[in-house]
Formats: sequence, C-alpha cells, structure tokens
Amino acid sequence: MPAISSKKPYRIGRSRTGLGLFATKPIKKGAKIVRYFGPLLDSKKKKDDAIENKYLFELNGRWTIDGSVRENVARYINHACKPNAESDVMPRKRKVVIRAIKNISPGEEINYDYGTDYFKAYLKPIGCKCDACEQKRKKKRAEARAERLRLQAKAERKALRKAQKAAAKAEKHQQRLNGKANGAKLNGKHLNGHGAKSAAGKLMAAKSGISVKPWGKQGGESRAEVGVPS
Ligand SMILES: [Zn+2]
Repeated sequence: MPAISSKKPYRIGRSRTGLGLFATKPIKKGAKIVRYFGPLLDSKKKKDDAIENKYLFELNGRWTIDGSVRENVARYINHACKPNAESDVMPRKRKVVIRAIKNISPGEEINYDYGTDYFKAYLKPIGCKCDACEQKRKKKRAEARAERLRLQAKAERKALRKAQKAAAKAEKHQQRLNGKANGAKLNGKHLNGHGAKSAAGKLMAAKSGISVKPWGKQGGESRAEVGVPS
C-alpha cells in the first residue's frame, strides 16, 4: 500500500469489496480529493494499445491513463451507483481529478461512478456491491420474505377455513344422527310394522339401558333397508 501523508483527508482501509479509500477529515462538496494518475497510453501505439487492466481510465478516443501504478491512490476508490464523488475528466489537460459531489464526513468511504462500460464489463456479472445496490437487494429480500409470509398466512387461513367447514359439516352430520336417534327413541315411528327383529332390538335397548345412539345409528337406515323387502 502506498504511504499517505497524514495531511491528506483520506486513508486506505477495508471496505466491503476489499480495499477502499475513506475520508479522515471532512471534505467539502466540490473539493478536489485526489488525482487519478498514471502513464498516458496512446491508442495509436500498438504497445500502449495492448495494455489491459482494470485501472485504465479512458480520456478520449486516443488517450488513456493507466492507473494501475502503485502510487495512484485514487485506484483504491471503489465504484458506487450513488456516489459522493465524481471523476472530473479534463481531456485537454489529460488529467482526471476525483472531486466530492457531497459533503463527506470522516469515516465515510469515498466513491465515484465508474460509468456504464466498466459497470457492464466488471460489476454486473458479479453483482454491484455498492451501498445503493446492497440496499436494493436487502429491500428485495425483505419484500420476498413478506410475500412468502403473506402466502403462508393465506394458506393457513384457507386450511383453517377448510377445517372449520369440515368440523361444521361433521357437527351437522352428528346432529342429524342424534336427531334420528332421538326420533327412534321418542316416537318409534320407523320401527312400526317392521317385524320382530326391530321390535326385539327396541326391547333389548330398553332393557339393557344402553344408550340408544348406536341402535339409532343402525335403526334409521339399516332397519329401513331390512324392513323394505320383508
Ligand atoms: Zn451499485
């Protein structure tokens, strides 16, 4: 890491993506922070044009700054989609300066937007890790979680309604059966004229004092069935 004078308002530090440049002093909006510098590459020269690295800063169609040199502290500045600094490009002077576009507080990471080409080539494939994109991802995850919970709650409500419906149906059925049993016991209408079997059944139930229910269960339906052919 290159040594940085303590007079400078920044230091190199750990960031989310590796190393980054952090403010150590307040930096005013519009203030120059650091120059992005390195050897000038001429695209007309084959040797220059063949150079390929992540720190090439294109000034125009012809000139490019090779910022991969160790002394170029600006190369530690990470990309952000909503940055607090910008690259101020002066093609005629063949110079690039990183400038604050917001007031930056000590401890804040300094960022600038690397531009669409860099973003597409290097960041999009791996997913941008800047604060704005992290926030967006977090929001999306939270929304997905909320949607999952909403669907889960909906499914639970549906299951509950289904269970309640089934319980109500079972209760109704039971009431119907009870009604039949009571009917058999109270008026004995169904039993009339259905022969000895039914009469005996009634008699036995009465004698034993067993609940009429089980008999009633059979009484209403099977007795009638049995009764029809005879
Ligand atoms: Zn981003």
